[in-house]
Amino acid sequence: MHFKPFISEQEIQDTVARMAAEIANDLGDDIPVFIGILNGSFMFVSDFVKKFPKPCEVTFIKLASYEGLKSTEDIQRLIGLTQDLTGRTVVILEDIIDSGKTLAEVHRIFKKEKVKELKIATLFHKPEAYKKDFKLHYVGIEIPNKFIVGYGLDFDGLGRDFPEVYQLKTTQHMTNIVLFGPPGAGKGTQANFLKEKYHLIHISTGDVFRNNIKNETALGMLAQSYMDKGELVPDKVTIDMLAAEVEKNADAKGFIFDGFPRTDAQAKALEALMEEKDSEISAMIALEVDDDILVQRLLGRGKTSGRPDDADEDIIRIRVTEYYNKTAILKEYYKAQNKYFGVDGVGSVEEITERLSKVIDKL
Ligand code: 5GP
Ligand code: MG
Repeated sequence: MHFKPFISEQEIQDTVARMAAEIANDLGDDIPVFIGILNGSFMFVSDFVKKFPKPCEVTFIKLASYEGLKSTEDIQRLIGLTQDLTGRTVVILEDIIDSGKTLAEVHRIFKKEKVKELKIATLFHKPEAYKKDFKLHYVGIEIPNKFIVGYGLDFDGLGRDFPEVYQLKTTQHMTNIVLFGPPGAGKGTQANFLKEKYHLIHISTGDVFRNNIKNETALGMLAQSYMDKGELVPDKVTIDMLAAEVEKNADAKGFIFDGFPRTDAQAKALEALMEEKDSEISAMIALEVDDDILVQRLLGRGKTSGRPDDADEDIIRIRVTEYYNKTAILKEYYKAQNKYFGVDGVGSVEEITERLSKVIDKL
């Protein structure tokens, strides 16, 4: 089990201060009773009341599941509410609201109390997991539906004491490959075999671009606007398109990136994108094919496809040279991380797939 830093102590403290100020402002001159739900909220409540600028009362309650009850329904027992809350302004302080089950219990219990007002404040909230429609009056930080630890929240009893919050890393291992090679090296063909064999998602930047433009997505239209002006599409736009593709395939075993990255900045952006997925680029695999063979292949392809840029040997040689000039830096980038693998791209399709597989199997 791995956790990674997620929300810093500073951000938490700033959020708590903001919530305290906002709630103080809304409550006017009433002296509120803040009620923390144990165990998780102890740290939040402690920091919150220190930052609350006006007089207030503070108490804690605990919800405990009945023990030894055979019912499948989770019935909770309330511990600790001894105070008369009649006519009082009560603010529930929760560390986290996830499904809202606990909150439903709180509402059930407080129905009996004749409070003047019941408000709900939570430091963390997972909107994707929330299944109730009780109003959340104050929400500190909305977080994705992933397990967190720290600042009162535990993992098997541990971690409540951390002043910052960590997020559970999804442990599923992904194989993410940057497939590399000059025009005519056979990237597309090999990507098709590899994606079947390893159940990977093939992301061809060219295809992603064309699809976004064809479907007139917001990003596609943005990209088109640069192209119309004869300008290069900024990396940010391209990486946002790739991020959307990656997001669409949230359960993927991995990705084959084809046609990306092309620059140092793009490689770093891709790294950040993979980091967000709790993953990384496993390898850059480059298909190595001699220039003369590339020229022959592309001329052959030009005869059948009619692509004008595949018909002229000089143009082909310029494209290949340009490719090497522009991408040499990437080879160095991945080499420096011991992630560069060159594979002989001359031979039958099966032979080359076999060579690529040998590299992938070891990742
Ligand atoms: P709910 O009843 O809203 O589904 O969840 C509330 C309770 O579940 C919290 O009081 C907390 O104990 C636990 N919980 C929900 N999400 C997390 C999380 O990401 N990390 C930890 N440590 N506990 C959580
Ligand atoms: Mg709680």
